[in-house]
Amino acid sequence: GSGAEVGAGAWPPLREELRGIEPYGAPQLDVPYALNVNENPYAPPAACVADIAESVARAAETLNRYPDREFVELRAALAAYLSRDVAPGQAPVAPEQVWAANGSNEVMLQLLQAFGGPGRTALSFAPTYSMYPEYARDTHTAWVAGRRAEDFTLDLDAARAAVGEHRPSVVLLPSPNNPTGTALSPEAVDVLCGAVGDDGVVVVDEAYGEFRRAGTPSALELLPVHRNLVVTRTMSKAFAGAGLRLGYLAAHPAIADAIRVVRLPYHLSATTQAVALAALRHADALLGQVDALRGERDTLVDWLRAQGHDVADSDANFVLFGRFADRHAVWQGLLERGVLIRETGPEGWLRVSVGTPEEMAAFRDALTIVTKENQ
Ligand code: PMP
Repeated sequence: GSGAEVGAGAWPPLREELRGIEPYGAPQLDVPYALNVNENPYAPPAACVADIAESVARAAETLNRYPDREFVELRAALAAYLSRDVAPGQAPVAPEQVWAANGSNEVMLQLLQAFGGPGRTALSFAPTYSMYPEYARDTHTAWVAGRRAEDFTLDLDAARAAVGEHRPSVVLLPSPNNPTGTALSPEAVDVLCGAVGDDGVVVVDEAYGEFRRAGTPSALELLPVHRNLVVTRTMSKAFAGAGLRLGYLAAHPAIADAIRVVRLPYHLSATTQAVALAALRHADALLGQVDALRGERDTLVDWLRAQGHDVADSDANFVLFGRFADRHAVWQGLLERGVLIRETGPEGWLRVSVGTPEEMAAFRDALTIVTKENQ
C-alpha cells in the first residue's frame, strides 16, 4: 500500500531506531507572551538592523559565487569577541581556534560526527539539554547520562567515576545548564578535562554564557590549560539572533581543524556570514540588552522565592521553578492566560524564559492566579 504502516514492511523505509520518533521542538503557538524557548525578547536595535540590511545587499551582489568556505573574516571577528572573556594576562583567542556553523546545534552535531561514532560514548549529566541524546543517536554514538546533585550542580567525585567507567570520547556540559540555569565552577571543568585526558573532548556548552552572574568565569579561561576543552557559544541568545542560526566554538586549533573533515562544503552561507559580521559590530549595544535581562532574571528569581516557590539559581536567561503536584495544570492555566512557558525539567518543575518587564508582569499576574487555583 501507499500509506505509512507499522511493522516489518513499514514505509517510508526509515532507519529502524528512528521509526515513530517525534521531531524535537517546543510547540510554536501564537500567544501574546512566548516565554518558552529562551529567546531574547529584544529585537536587534535599529542601527544593527540597518547594518545587517546593507551587509546582506552587498553579499547579494556576489551570490553567484560560493561563500568563503573558511569564513576567515567571521572567524577573526568571533575570536576578537571571545577574547573579551579570557582571563587578564591570557593570550587572546586566535582565529584558528574558532569554528562556526548554523547554530550551536550544528556545531555540536559536527563535534559528535568528528569525535563520536560507532563504538564511542558521549556522556552528560541529567537533567541536561534534550538535544544531546539526539546528536548521539544520529551519529551512532552510545549515550550515557549520569545524574546531577539535588541542587543541579555536578558531584565531582561521581562525575570522575562516570568518566572512569564509561571512557567517553565526548563529554557534554552545558554551562549554564538548560533547563536548570546552573553554571559550572571552573574546578568542575578542570576536573572533567583532567579525567577525560587525551581520550576525548570536553564540550562546555556556553549557549547562555553571556547571561552568567558577575564572578562566574567563562570556561574560555581554561583553554590554555586543557587541549581537550571545547567551548561553544551561540548568537541565538545574547546576540538576539535566534533567527540567524550562527553557533561557534573555541578550542585547540587541531580540534577546530579536525571538524573541517565532517562539515559540508560551504555550510555557512554568504548571507549568514554577512549578517553575523554585522551583528558582531553591534556587540556592545546587544550586550547592553543582556545586562537588562540579567537584572530582570534576578528580580524574577527573588519574586518567585518570595511567593514560596523552589527556584534553581540561574546564570541563564530562564528560570526553573516549582515544584507543582500537577505541573501540567499550571502550564495549561498560564497558557489560557496567554503566557506560554515550557513544561520541562525534572517532574514538578517548570521553566520560564526571561522577557521584557511587560512580559514578566504578565507572567507574574498569571502565575499568581493559577497557583491559587491549583492549591
Ligand atoms: N545549547 C543549549 C544548552 C541550548 O539550550 C540551545 C538552544 N536552546 C542550544 C545549545 C542550541 O542553540 P542554537 O542552535 O540556536 O545555537
